[in-house]
Amino acid sequence: MTAGPTAFLRDADETESFAKALGILCKGGERFALSGEMGAGKTTFVRGLASGLGIESHEISSPTFTLIHEHEGRSEGAHSPRCLVHVDAYRLEDPSELDELGWSDILQQRHNVVVVEWPQKISGSFGESVVEMELFHVASESDGLAGREIIFNSTLPDELRRQLFTSCRTCQRELHAGISSFPFCGNTCRMADLGNWFDGNYSVSREIEEDDLYDSDLS
Ligand SMILES: [Zn+2]
Repeated sequence: MTAGPTAFLRDADETESFAKALGILCKGGERFALSGEMGAGKTTFVRGLASGLGIESHEISSPTFTLIHEHEGRSEGAHSPRCLVHVDAYRLEDPSELDELGWSDILQQRHNVVVVEWPQKISGSFGESVVEMELFHVASESDGLAGREIIFNSTLPDELRRQLFTSCRTCQRELHAGISSFPFCGNTCRMADLGNWFDGNYSVSREIEEDDLYDSDLS
């Protein structure tokens, strides 16, 4: 796998919010190959992705004997409803089993967002433009605390990359979606940004409205 952007996710909550941010950005037609050892957070990740697609997260279970789970999402914002197709290929004996389950139709449906766990089991059956990602247990570089890391291969579309991986609006430190202070590295930078607004350091072409403040996630 070609190394692309990586995100350190401190715990299950951050993993879920990162995946939720990804789900919100999906338009339909996305394909994700999700690798990672047992317990690395794959189910948490799929739950977050589902949530971003407007699907109740309790609908997402950890691996079962069902190979393909389909979940209808709600229509949200500018999106028409998208459907999450969650494939757990762990118990798949042969990729041809997928054909019997209507796999090629599933891939053709434009509103489907498809995520496959244990993608190596279906290699060759997932078509092109698949975003590969892998979850690892790691320790944080800054404080040594345990967490997990998600690594994308370089096919992550630019649009998704720009929105998920950005820099702090105040200090320009690199950061990623999923952290509670996003798009700031922390509360200090968030408050500094707010201070700039109140001091009039930003030139704006109109009066600041209450909504502008809430847009920066202060609610
Ligand atoms: Zn900052």
